[in-house]
Amino acid sequence: MPITPLMPVYPRTAFRPVRGDHCHLIGEDGRRYLDFAAGIAVNSLGHSHKGLIGAIQSQAAELMHVSNLYGSPQGERLAQRLVDLTFADTVFFTNSGAEAVECAIKTARAYHQHVGNDDKYELITFNNAFHGRTMATISASNQEKMHKGFKPLLPGFAYVEFDDLAAARAAIGPRTAGFLVEPVQGEGGVRAGSDQFIQGLRELADEHDLMLVLDEVQSGVGRCGTFYAHEHYGIAPDILATAKGIGGGFPLGACLATEKAARGMIAGTHGSTYGGNPLAMAAGEAVLDAFAAEDILANVREKGAKLAARMEQFIGNYPELFVEVRGRGLMLGLKLTVEPRGFVAHLRDNHGLLTVSAGDNVVRIVPPLVIGDEHIDEFMDRLSAAAANFSLEGAAA
Ligand SMILES: *Cc1c(COP(=O)(O)O)cnc(C)c1O
Repeated sequence: MPITPLMPVYPRTAFRPVRGDHCHLIGEDGRRYLDFAAGIAVNSLGHSHKGLIGAIQSQAAELMHVSNLYGSPQGERLAQRLVDLTFADTVFFTNSGAEAVECAIKTARAYHQHVGNDDKYELITFNNAFHGRTMATISASNQEKMHKGFKPLLPGFAYVEFDDLAAARAAIGPRTAGFLVEPVQGEGGVRAGSDQFIQGLRELADEHDLMLVLDEVQSGVGRCGTFYAHEHYGIAPDILATAKGIGGGFPLGACLATEKAARGMIAGTHGSTYGGNPLAMAAGEAVLDAFAAEDILANVREKGAKLAARMEQFIGNYPELFVEVRGRGLMLGLKLTVEPRGFVAHLRDNHGLLTVSAGDNVVRIVPPLVIGDEHIDEFMDRLSAAAANFSLEGAAA
């Protein structure tokens, strides 16, 4: 294969989107697709949200970027709103999820090392986790497919089984700095941790003076029906990584922390050239404005429950293809009996429906958080037509 101008790390589809229209995408050939992938849980407000577009346009005209050497009224405003909405006392802005997790890892290590506990650097992480593609974030996952070709990994991560509290407890040692966990695993297969697991990690962290670090890059910002998914469990983390939906499609992430957890993150310890630039801050504020004005959390809860119930009722018709519906809010997974990529391609190419494959034979269903009943109807029509003419023989091969 000849090298391509775009480094060929993604096996890209023949579908080439060129325009977005609310919950639909339009291809180069003019064909419309129902977008229940939303840029992988990013386009929380859909594709052509007037408030978001307007905020980006006017901020771009006013001031796009200055350095973090200067005071930032724009950053202070968005940080204060996130502090008001969450457990956090302080925020570091990034441009992506992996950078938010990087900052979270550094914050957890610095919590211990700032007071001289230099040997406390290990984070206990969980099998099938996904934390991003930088060296630290691939090292934080046990998934061999992300390691191959990139060794040596960064030391300081211990992997244990997800949702196994006893295994997490047993892994605590003199080097342990904390836990890093997705409360609802996304890429790993849309698996929500049990109450007992997530609450148990909180108790273990309190007992041993460890940092509970949540990766809510995918599960956060309304995706699961609460502003952050940890609210479902009645616990708060010490540190949280957020991105994806928070910019509504504009690259934006953040590391949130309590005052106590951030004690090591003092002047000169961390930085980013672009992180927190005024343009990204305007996008983040526009997303929060829409959450308040359109009561998006209520919409996620209502439409998520409806969509899950409709799918549950439907999948019994095809027990040879569908196993179960899982997930929370509008972070849903449809588990298949077979590897899901063939069915995801069939949905897209033959039925104009965009979804994302995940681990554990799961099709991820992560639509914009602003879907209406008409989009659920359209989704079910397309899904049932697709199930009716899908060849299992081809998929199993
Ligand atoms: C997508 C994702 C990341 C990485 O985000 P990028 O913006 O691609 O760096 C990290 N953690 C989780 C849980 C994710 O879903």
